[in-house]
Amino acid sequence: MYWCPSCLAELVALPEAFRCSKCSQEFPLKNGFCVFEDSELVSSLDYGLSQEKLDIEREALLSRLRFYLIPRLGLRCGTRVLSVGCGAGSDIEELNLLGSEAYGMDFLYRTREWKARGLSKHRFFVSSTARLPFPRGHFDLILCMGVIEHVSEFQSSAEGICCTRQRAPGFSTGTTRFA
Ligand SMILES: [Zn+2]
Repeated sequence: MYWCPSCLAELVALPEAFRCSKCSQEFPLKNGFCVFEDSELVSSLDYGLSQEKLDIEREALLSRLRFYLIPRLGLRCGTRVLSVGCGAGSDIEELNLLGSEAYGMDFLYRTREWKARGLSKHRFFVSSTARLPFPRGHFDLILCMGVIEHVSEFQSSAEGICCTRQRAPGFSTGTTRFA
């Protein structure tokens, strides 16, 4: 379930878009995934990662999750998780298998990979932290792993992640250390 980033009404899934039930704004699908912000920020990058690098990234994501995050964060059935910069999304798949309600967001170029892997448009989307399609207080946990060290506008990005209106009371934020 997504909500309109502009007016926060529920969105309706159409074959090629999500449409706001209140203001009628439409958010198109690209490669089968919804784009809530279509700015340079999310659409201009195209890394074309090799399968070898994708496999390394996938293993790193799963290791962080299994050996570090799950034992420390007390994840339970129904925990609402958002991974900002989720990459291939292996952690989201694993969290959902464990009973969490986990969503992943990343840049547009990642949608090719998500499509090839058969991931759900109801769990993966393209946006920035400034236009999240969720209501206030929706998430118990926001993850930002292996991301912040690649961000040039660190201050505003950190504020976007940590101060997002979507955090719930007592929520947690997980991110990597950086020098
Ligand atoms: Zn709306």
